[in-house]
Amino acid sequence: MSKKLFRYSEANKEKFLTSDDITFSDGSVATPEEVWHYLTEEGPEKYPHAFEININQGSRAIRDETFPTLLKTQYLALTLSDRMEKAKDNGKSIAFIQGGQTIDPYTAADTIALRPFNVGNWNHGRHHGKNINENAQIRKEKKEKSYHDMTFEACQTAGYEHIQEGNLRVDIVAPYTTLRCSDVSYGVEAHRHGPNQNVKLYNVDFPLRNQADKPWAIEYFSKNLRKLVGLLDETTGRTTTEEDLLKAIKLHNEGRRLSIELSDLWWSADIPPTNSDDRQTLSSLGHLEYGDTQASLSVLKEAKKFLAERVENGVKGPGLADNPKRLFVLGSCVWVNNARSEADGAIIVGKDDGWSTVNALVDEEGDPFYNLAKATLNYPYEQGIEERARWTIDQIKKSRAEGVIFIHRWGCNTQASISRAVVDVIKRETGIPTYIHESEFGLQHEQEHNRVSAFIEML
Ligand code: SF4
Repeated sequence: MSKKLFRYSEANKEKFLTSDDITFSDGSVATPEEVWHYLTEEGPEKYPHAFEININQGSRAIRDETFPTLLKTQYLALTLSDRMEKAKDNGKSIAFIQGGQTIDPYTAADTIALRPFNVGNWNHGRHHGKNINENAQIRKEKKEKSYHDMTFEACQTAGYEHIQEGNLRVDIVAPYTTLRCSDVSYGVEAHRHGPNQNVKLYNVDFPLRNQADKPWAIEYFSKNLRKLVGLLDETTGRTTTEEDLLKAIKLHNEGRRLSIELSDLWWSADIPPTNSDDRQTLSSLGHLEYGDTQASLSVLKEAKKFLAERVENGVKGPGLADNPKRLFVLGSCVWVNNARSEADGAIIVGKDDGWSTVNALVDEEGDPFYNLAKATLNYPYEQGIEERARWTIDQIKKSRAEGVIFIHRWGCNTQASISRAVVDVIKRETGIPTYIHESEFGLQHEQEHNRVSAFIEML
């Protein structure tokens, strides 16, 4: 049965065509005409699931068509798989990292760094013409295979199975071992026994729990960053210098600063200027990912003028209720069904995961390895429970959230064990209603959203 697909309206085309080109790291560009053509012709043909209207799986009938940045980030997401294949054909090196870290050293070493979610997208982007359910089934089958081949106890959010099978040309699996994630370091070790023995492996060891101000810890992590860069250089055959790292830090600081500005601007508005998905996109663009730092930065640079225009004119994000209940979502690799939450009269105004690393500005004076190590050890999300909760409370207050949901994935041991304690501190200090639920990575389960709906109703 053919599914109803979302189509961008021709009425918005003229304005979109006046926006900037996307400029990629290799100097090539995608003009607005090319992006528009992709999103209206090639994309729906190749990836119908991304255009299918199906609110139970988070896919909207009303999208924010008049905000050019959001069309461009959709273009970057949909073309990621093809771009990664092309990058490999051109001899580019690709590293698999984890979700809770920044990518400055990989950029310095001329290596594309992909988080688990993007590794998954790279793989799933190789399947064409699938609807939402077919696409979800492919993801589920992959996950079942990895539960079987690795362990059913890990969350399997990461894309190890794709790499183990040799489906994806990843050169090195080298994540930081930050506290948030119990799966990622385990996964690196599991690779040592897998069929794909060609991939290089390295855990960038991260001193855990209240070490942020200790000189030994900063020195130790800085040494590990140097080792990481050395390993990346073995793959690329180049020599990364301190100047290269400083240049990468400056580039990423620019992205982080822009995303912080955009988030502050969004939070300052009386009326939410975009929907929940799009607010999240603006706050995470500062990671400069989508497999191309320069492309992300070029999209991010023009976003501020579009958002400022909306805030100034009191424009409400399309499809939102008047005065929606403001929710803040906590936890790693999690989300709620934003479209259904909005239909229930709410909006997601913030998340801690990801936002913590966007806030990690790095000093630009002095030893760049030391400075990067220091900033990394200070990620708010990686601190002890009280400190993490205090930072989260600040974000909740800034975003004027009225309810907090903590979600942890099956197999995500750190988040599962600390969720109660974090939420208790938040509740004690703010009095805001909170609740916690466990979830499995993959489909948007209807029962899961029923609980979110009930929470919104209670608010
Ligand atoms: S869900 Fe938890 S264990 Fe799994 S990848 Fe994310 S942070 Fe790591």
